[in-house]
Amino acid sequence: MTRYYNEDVVSEIQSRLDIVDIISETVNLTRKGSRYWGKCPFHQEKTASFCVTPEKNMFYCFGCNTGGDIFSFVMKRDNISFPEALEILALKAGIDRSKKVSSQEFNHKRKVLTINLETAKYYQQRLSNTSNKAIDYLAKRNISQEIAKKFHLGFADESWDSLVEYMLKKGYTAKDLEKAGLAKHSENTNRYFDLFRNRLIFPIFSYTGDIVGFGGRVLDDSNPKYLNSPETDIFSKRKNLYGLYQAKEAIRKNNQIILVEGYIDCIKLHQYGITNVVASLGTAFTNEQAQLIKKYAEEVIILYDGDEAGQRETAKVIDILSKEDIKIDVVTLPGSIDPDEYLDLYGKEDFLHFLKNNKISYIEFKLNRYLNSTNTLYIEDKAKIINYLKPDIIKLKSQIEQDYYIRLLAQKLKVEENIIYREFNQNINLKRPEGIKRNKKQIIRNNKHYGNYAFEEKLLAHMLKDDEIFNRVINANAIEFFNKPDVKKLAYIIKDYKNESDVSLDQIIREQNLDNTWARIML
Ligand SMILES: [Zn+2]
Repeated sequence: MTRYYNEDVVSEIQSRLDIVDIISETVNLTRKGSRYWGKCPFHQEKTASFCVTPEKNMFYCFGCNTGGDIFSFVMKRDNISFPEALEILALKAGIDRSKKVSSQEFNHKRKVLTINLETAKYYQQRLSNTSNKAIDYLAKRNISQEIAKKFHLGFADESWDSLVEYMLKKGYTAKDLEKAGLAKHSENTNRYFDLFRNRLIFPIFSYTGDIVGFGGRVLDDSNPKYLNSPETDIFSKRKNLYGLYQAKEAIRKNNQIILVEGYIDCIKLHQYGITNVVASLGTAFTNEQAQLIKKYAEEVIILYDGDEAGQRETAKVIDILSKEDIKIDVVTLPGSIDPDEYLDLYGKEDFLHFLKNNKISYIEFKLNRYLNSTNTLYIEDKAKIINYLKPDIIKLKSQIEQDYYIRLLAQKLKVEENIIYREFNQNINLKRPEGIKRNKKQIIRNNKHYGNYAFEEKLLAHMLKDDEIFNRVINANAIEFFNKPDVKKLAYIIKDYKNESDVSLDQIIREQNLDNTWARIML
C-alpha cells in the first residue's frame, strides 16, 4: 500500500503534541489517578465516562465505546479523513507540511510566536555575552547558569530600542513587534521603543512549549518592579502559569502541584530538583489558573511568602481554588521568609521535611488565620467562625474528614463537639444522603464497565504486555476461538504485523476501523 505521508511526521506529531491538551480543547477533563475523565463529546451523557490515558496516548469512552489515538480523536470530532486530521495536527505541532496558505489568523499567531522565540534568543544571548547587571543579580540570588538556561532567562539592556533595531535587521517590522507586545509607539517622537529596558527577562511558556509572553524584573529601584507583556492574541495572563511547561512531567508523576508566588521562587525550587512547581503570573490568581491546575493534578500545595502580604494572597488563592474539586494544602514558612531564601539557607532535604511536617489543609489554614486575627473569643466570635467554615466542612465527601474538622473546631474554640454538630446538623442532613448516593453510583458505574471486558479482551491485553503469553496463545492457535469479530480481527493484525518494523500498526488498525477496540484494550 502506498502511503501518502511520511511516518516520521506521524511520530513527530505524537511526540510534540499532548493528547490531554488536544482533547481539552473540546472536553473539560479532570484528573483522577493517572487518567483524565470528562463528559463524552461523541454521545450525550450526564456523568463522565470518557477517559484519556496520556501514558498510552489513547482515549476511550465507556459509554459509547468510541476510542483511539490523537488522530482518531480529531477525525471523529471534526468528521474528517486521516490526511485532514494529520494536516490540522501538524499545524498545531508547528510542523511545516506544505507551502499552501493556511488561514490568516493561524499565520498571524505563528508569526507572533516566531517573534517571541527570536526575542527570547536575543535576550538570552545578551545575558551570556557580556558582564551585566542581570548576571550580577542572578549571582546574588544564587541562580545557576544551568537553570537560567533551562528557563531561557535573558537580559534587556538600558537602550531605548536595541530589540527593535535587532528585529528590523531580521526582517520584521516595528508594527509586528508592537502586535507581539514587545515595542511601543511614541506619539511625540514618532518612534518605536522597547517595552523591556534594564530588566531581567523571564520568557513565559505555554503548556505546549511556545513562548507566549515575557515577564521582566527591574535591575534598579525603578517601578514597576515586575512588568509583564500586555495581553496579545496569544498571551493571556489569566490563562497561564509560569513554569508549567517545565514542570509538566513532574506534576504528572507526583499528581501534585506546588504553587509559589514569584518567578524566582519557581526557578529556585527547580534548581534544587523540586520540579512540580509553578508560579502565578504576578497578578491576582484567576479561575482559569485554578482550572489549569485541576487539569494536571489532584492536589495543590500553596507555598507563598511567610509575610502578611503572602498570607493574605494565600487566603485569596484559596477562595478561588476551593471552587474546584481539588485537594488544597497550605504551607506557611517561618518568619517572613520566602521559599527561595529558605532553600538557600537550609537546603533541599530540610525544605522537603518542612513541607511534609507543616502541610495543613486549607480549612485549617482558614481557621488559624481567623483565630490569629481576633483578640477575643466570645460566644458570638465562636458562632461566627463555625458559620465561616461550615460551607467548607459540609462540602467534604467523607464523614471521617467532617468529624475531624468538627473535633478540631471544638478543641480550638473550646466548645463541645455536639454543639457544633447541632449548628451543622440541618445542612449536613440535607446534603449528605445525596452526596453518598452520587459517590456510590459512580463506583458501581466504573466497576460495571471494567467488569464488562470479555475474557478474550482481557487475554489480548495481557498478550500485549507479555511476549511469552503472546507466543503461547498464538502457538495454541487460540485466536481462532475468539468470539468478538473485532477482537479476533485485531488479534490477527497484531500477530501479523507485531514484528514488522516498516509498517505502522496504528495506521493499519485505523484503516481497518479497529481503533475503538484497540483503545479499549490498550487502556
Ligand atoms: Zn461516549
